Amino acid sequence: MGEGGVVDGSGGAAAGDAVPPRGRGVLSLLPADPQQALRVRRQLLASGTGLLFPVALYIAHLFGLMPLGVVLIGSAGVLALIAFFYALFRSGLNLRFGDPSLTAEQIATSVLYLAWIMYQAPGARDVLSPFYMVALLFGVLRLDTRRLMAVAAVALAAHSAVVLFSSLRDPAMNLKAAYVQLAVLFIVLPWFAFMGGYVNSLRLRLSDRNRELREANSRIERLAIQDELTGLHNRRHLLGALAREAARAQRLASPYSLCLFDVDHFKSINDTFGHAAGDAALRQVALVASSGLRAVDVFGRYGGEEFLLLLPDTGQRGACAVAERIRAGIEAAGFPQIPAEQRVTVTIGVATSRKDEDIDALLARADAALYRGKEAGRNRVVGAG
Ligand code: GH3
Ligand code: MG
Ligand code: MG
Repeated sequence: MGEGGVVDGSGGAAAGDAVPPRGRGVLSLLPADPQQALRVRRQLLASGTGLLFPVALYIAHLFGLMPLGVVLIGSAGVLALIAFFYALFRSGLNLRFGDPSLTAEQIATSVLYLAWIMYQAPGARDVLSPFYMVALLFGVLRLDTRRLMAVAAVALAAHSAVVLFSSLRDPAMNLKAAYVQLAVLFIVLPWFAFMGGYVNSLRLRLSDRNRELREANSRIERLAIQDELTGLHNRRHLLGALAREAARAQRLASPYSLCLFDVDHFKSINDTFGHAAGDAALRQVALVASSGLRAVDVFGRYGGEEFLLLLPDTGQRGACAVAERIRAGIEAAGFPQIPAEQRVTVTIGVATSRKDEDIDALLARADAALYRGKEAGRNRVVGAG
């Protein structure tokens, strides 16, 4: 089918294909699949934040709140978790999970690990508790309120266990301070999850709005160049394509041709079978004429029951042959709502570009040829002199 058949924004995709994907070589950290690459990028961002954790552990150690052994084990554990999740993404195993971004799993694992470190270094509990919030923060990018609440519940259960087991291990522990901290977490974490869910819903609504806007824009762009009745290019697009072709043909000194179609006795088709049958006939003419065109040919509705076909790199003889094939195709075609014995036909004027001839002059010659065809009895192809 020629360009007239499908309005596709003239080959933008082909140009896009030629651009090599960014940052996806053999040595790249990111997988080739864009979805997976996005997930790994998010995981690396979370991992970067995770690296703050060893810094906090070391600071706690400097102030005597944590033995060096726990700092080292804690840091190694963070690196191991980062490597573990990275391997899951790179191997594609994450795709087996309901949510392949593994956001809830990553947060829950981090939270449990954090609680375990707190159990190992009771003196650092106060210093490390803000990391519960840091972990939850990443959920805001992906999780709804319900799932954020679930990871907050995991954090609260884990911290309650830390307090319980710490008090069992050390009966002299300052229980009051631990309970106050636990109570604060019970207030702050669910509130944080609730607010996070709200932010997430705003973000989703915004991206929905953006998608709707993009769709509306592409609809408007399509309507600007498309004829509503037939789906072909409209007159505005045809004239633009014609101007581009004229410039190209001049540069390359190669001729192009125009075929101007007009449906014969169309007024009487409307009058006899009704306007709806007339519309259906126009759609059928469009369909029959546009089948078998080259991709470079531009076909569209020029006016009421007139169509224009632009044939690049085509001389008079070739253009007349194309026009004749289309004329015969339409004559032979069946038309909805119109009895078979009533043939629908077209007359076609064909004109081929001359050196230094402007578009209006070329169109006028095609129109004159069409007029001669009508005079000579219609249902024929006439080449301009
Ligand atoms: P000729 O063979 O000389 O071309 O005769 P004709 O009847 O086709 O010529 P004329 O230009 O007098 O009639 C064209 C008709 O096309 C008039 C108009 O009502 C009709 N028409 C134009 N656009 C549409 C449309 O979108 N739908 C329908 N159903 N009819 C249309
Ligand atoms: Mg007409
Ligand atoms: Mg007509």
